[in-house]
Amino acid sequence: MNGLHTLLFLVVSLAAALLFYRLWLWRQRSLIGRRPFPAAWEEILYRQLPLYRRLPPPLKNRLRQKIQLFLWDKNFEGCGGQQITDEVRVTIAGQACMLLIGRRGPIYPKLFSILVYPSAFVQGEGLFLEGDPNAIHLGESWQHGTVILAWDSVQRGARNAEDGQNVAIHEFAHQLDQADGEADGAPLLDSRSAYATWAPTFQKEYDRLQKRLEQRRDTFFDAYGATHPAEFFAVVSETFFEKPNQMKEKHPDLYREVRSYYRVDPITWIAPEEEP
Ligand SMILES: [Zn+2]
Repeated sequence: MNGLHTLLFLVVSLAAALLFYRLWLWRQRSLIGRRPFPAAWEEILYRQLPLYRRLPPPLKNRLRQKIQLFLWDKNFEGCGGQQITDEVRVTIAGQACMLLIGRRGPIYPKLFSILVYPSAFVQGEGLFLEGDPNAIHLGESWQHGTVILAWDSVQRGARNAEDGQNVAIHEFAHQLDQADGEADGAPLLDSRSAYATWAPTFQKEYDRLQKRLEQRRDTFFDAYGATHPAEFFAVVSETFFEKPNQMKEKHPDLYREVRSYYRVDPITWIAPEEEP
């Protein structure tokens, strides 16, 4: 009987500790999201991210809250002599959180570390090695909680917000894709009906890109997107945030799907459900 009591006591204590920890975490997160945003960070966002300058005030505010949570939660590590300054942290967090600006829920719950190199690097163990596997890389996204970025490429991608090339958006889109445990070009969607339209639209556009490349015709999306469905999702995400007008005009069905996933329209910066 004593043994049973001890076991019961242990189980109840463990459950209570777990509950307490979750409540503490929830409380911490809500406090951190409401902290005043440092003026120096705001200045970095203005200087580094033209996309930030375009946001209406309520979305600027939402992005700042998410950045606070991202920076509280994630570990940054400098590699190859790279210093981790607020400039590095805020610029990367700003772009990572741009992908979540319309979405509720946790901030990349499976991501723990961001490794930053000064410039293109040789690694070779990641899931997505952007470019030739034996060549230098601009970014990588690992299934087990790590994103690796080259700081010069991050800055270049951020400062030109209209060319559809943004390595940070690309790598964090891989993280969203990997959140369901599979890197297949389909992130976690909100409903079964969302998958019903997502899958055929994505497949059609992926096939179309591959076909145009085979025929040596011009493509709107970067050819790199044709190498794997996961790369297609990452490339489409870059294009969606940086060239939304052209994408909507040339690929309206795909634009609609991606917009309903990200829950924001980078043309109007209005959430789809709020549109008149
Ligand atoms: Zn990639």
